[in-house]
Amino acid sequence: MSIPEATLSAEREGLCPDCDGYGNIIENGVARPCHCRIERELTERLTVARIPERYRHCSLDNFSTDSHERERDLKAMRWALKEMLGKPGRGIYIHGEHGVGKTHLAVAILRELVKQGKSGVYYNVVDLLDQMRDSMRAESGPGAQQLLGFHMDWEVLLLDDLGVQRASPWVVERLHAIVNARYESNRVLIITSNKTLEAATANLNRAITSRLREMCIVYAMQAQEDYRNRLAEKSAVPEKPRRGRRRNSEDE
Ligand SMILES: [Zn+2]
Repeated sequence: MSIPEATLSAEREGLCPDCDGYGNIIENGVARPCHCRIERELTERLTVARIPERYRHCSLDNFSTDSHERERDLKAMRWALKEMLGKPGRGIYIHGEHGVGKTHLAVAILRELVKQGKSGVYYNVVDLLDQMRDSMRAESGPGAQQLLGFHMDWEVLLLDDLGVQRASPWVVERLHAIVNARYESNRVLIITSNKTLEAATANLNRAITSRLREMCIVYAMQAQEDYRNRLAEKSAVPEKPRRGRRRNSEDE
C-alpha cells in the first residue's frame, strides 16, 4: 500500500501523520480526538497552570521512593488522588518539613487532575496575596476585580506554602474569602505547608481552619521521619563508614 500524498506532506510540514494536523480521527463516521490533540491540550492546560519551572516535571511517577517513608507517601498520594477524583470538591492539605517533597506531590496531583480535564492553577500563597494587593493598589489596572475573583475560575487551586504569610487583617480577610468561596462552590484546594493545619491557620480566622479540615484530606508527610534521620546522620560524625543510604537528590 502506498502512503497517501496527504500524509507525506503532513510529515514534511511537521504535522501529526495520524490526523494530518486536523486533530480528529474519523472512525466509522464518528470523530474522536487524535492523541496529538489530547497531548497538545494537556500541555496548554499545564502551561496556563503557572507551575514554576523547577516543579514542572513533577509527577507521581518520578517521585523518588528511596525509603519506606517515601514509599508510604507516594502510596498515600495515589489513594488521595482516587478519593479526590471520586468526590467532587475534595482537596488535600499536605504538611511536612522543608525539603521532604510536599510541593512535588502537590504539583503531581494537580497535574493528574488537569489530565482528567480539570482546569488548575498553582500559586505560592505569598505571591498570590502580593498580586492581589498590587492589583488593588493599581485601581484601574487591568482586571483588578478579576484578579480578586480569579481563583474561582479554576476548578483546582494549588496554594503552596500556607502559613508563612503575615496575618494582617487584610490577609486574614483575603484568605478567608478564598477558602470560603471555594468551599461554597465545591471547588478543589490543594495546599502545602510546613506546619500542621492548626499551626498554619493559628493566626487566621477560626472558620478557615474548620472549613479546610472539612474540605481537605490532611496528610502529614512520612518522609519527614526519614528526613530527620538524614539530618541527624549528616550532623553526626560517623565512626565507621555508613553503607547504602542513598541520598535523595530531589528538592522540595
Ligand atoms: Zn494527530
